[in-house]
Amino acid sequence: MDPGIIAVIGTTGVGKSDLSIQLAKELDGEVINGDALQVYKGLDIITNKMKMEEREGIVHHLMDFLPMDREYSVLDFKADALGLIKQIHGRKHMPVVVGGTHYYIQSLLWRDTLLDTKKNVGSGGTGDGGSSSASLSETQMQGQNEKNERFLKDSDTATLYRKLKEVDPVMANKWHENDRRKITRSLQVFFETGECQSDLIKKQHALSDSERLRADELGNFATRMPTCIFWVYSAPDVLNARLDARVDTMIKGGLFDEIQGMRKSVGPNTDYERGIWQAIGYKEFDPYFTALEEAIKSNQPTDTKELETLKAECTETMKVRTRQYAKRQVLWIRNKLLPLCREKDVKIFLLDATSLDTWKENVSKVAIKIAKDFFAGKALPNAEEMNTYAKEMLTAQRDLDAVAALESWEKKECTICTEMQRIMYDKYNKNQGSAGEPGAIASVIIHGPTGWEQHLQSKLHRKLKTCKAEMERDGTNWWYFKAQEYKKRKREGTLNSEVEVVGERDGVSGSNSSSNGGGGNVVGETAATSGHSGRESPAAKLRRTDDG
Ligand SMILES: [Zn+2]
Repeated sequence: MDPGIIAVIGTTGVGKSDLSIQLAKELDGEVINGDALQVYKGLDIITNKMKMEEREGIVHHLMDFLPMDREYSVLDFKADALGLIKQIHGRKHMPVVVGGTHYYIQSLLWRDTLLDTKKNVGSGGTGDGGSSSASLSETQMQGQNEKNERFLKDSDTATLYRKLKEVDPVMANKWHENDRRKITRSLQVFFETGECQSDLIKKQHALSDSERLRADELGNFATRMPTCIFWVYSAPDVLNARLDARVDTMIKGGLFDEIQGMRKSVGPNTDYERGIWQAIGYKEFDPYFTALEEAIKSNQPTDTKELETLKAECTETMKVRTRQYAKRQVLWIRNKLLPLCREKDVKIFLLDATSLDTWKENVSKVAIKIAKDFFAGKALPNAEEMNTYAKEMLTAQRDLDAVAALESWEKKECTICTEMQRIMYDKYNKNQGSAGEPGAIASVIIHGPTGWEQHLQSKLHRKLKTCKAEMERDGTNWWYFKAQEYKKRKREGTLNSEVEVVGERDGVSGSNSSSNGGGGNVVGETAATSGHSGRESPAAKLRRTDDG
């Protein structure tokens, strides 16, 4: 039996930790924490750490060790966890990685197909010094990395887009100029590898079959070791009620003491998107604690109705954010992790944890049997047939071949819509006896294959297509009637509106830009990179999108 790994993933509050301990007990396992916030020392309540007595003597690694003022990146995690796995295998034990920071876990289980390719694919090649970082020392590189990260974080999207156009015009042409997440990811690839993302993608495609096979043998496009993944899942309505209740329990259990301790340890300028400060609850209770501290400072009573109302509002906000986080975690699994699993036939089993009463039959017993069979090379059940949710959640949502999707991602002009709107505009103006403004009607540009599909279905496109057919059929008289319609649309302000909103829809549902969406969790969130999304730090993403 090859030394492998078990991963337990799923949303917050679903019971992952319990399952990891049950698996570890049955399979001589040691648990590796894969939650970006549980690495912090103390703060057990706000980070939802498992109590010592509930760990049943199972060793937990990468948990409870980092001081509050420190940061921990996905790269730190990957390096630490890989080192630990080696040691655990050396003890003939089974590593069980568990956590809700799914991009951490993903980076650990899979090699980064894009970034790792450079080393291996390029090794026999030119080595033409295309890498901007090749000649730098480690410290210089670190400084450079920090500079790059700051640039990516602090620059506005237009600046980032200009930079991308400069270094990788091919990718720039693929992304919408406002798609900060994708632009950032492409730039990140350039900064980290010194090569254009488009070149890397081309190289990946240029691999011959035998090279591909070899790359597979090297594990380049696959997991690092035999991997068995369990997704602990609960129906959202049931889970939401559980999450709400958990917030109340946290408050009763001392959440406020932890928050107050955290507030004392930092100045007022906390960056809520970094490190421990992203823990859900800390920021959400800021209005309440700020008001409370004010009251204390000015010797006002602290038991006022206003303060109580504020506290209740903050509690509600925390509940909402927790539910949103859970939702993004599921999206991350479906949109990011599942495609990787399918691509290389990595085994992932969804366990139905909707009812806690049937935990043993539906979750722990099933997982233990599968894990044992998996590592013994025995036959495994069909994952999609295991329960009602498995079928729904594990089946493909969208085109899974990420590279193929990238390849086909283009800006495309709808010549019908462009041409017809221009004709209407000209005819209309001519009818008014004016020349109109040149360039008043911009080309109708659609981003991405899905956007294109949507555009073809849109009312405007279908209408203009009909117009074109009518024009071709009826000739010159046609325009007059259409000009009336143009006039009407212009008056209503609906002229270009349908076209303008069609943007790229790549199926990544995290594009929740208003509140920086984690999973959105998270920039070309292919696999392991520090960057997970446009505006936010990787850690920030973790909380929202989880992304992590
Ligand atoms: Zn069109």
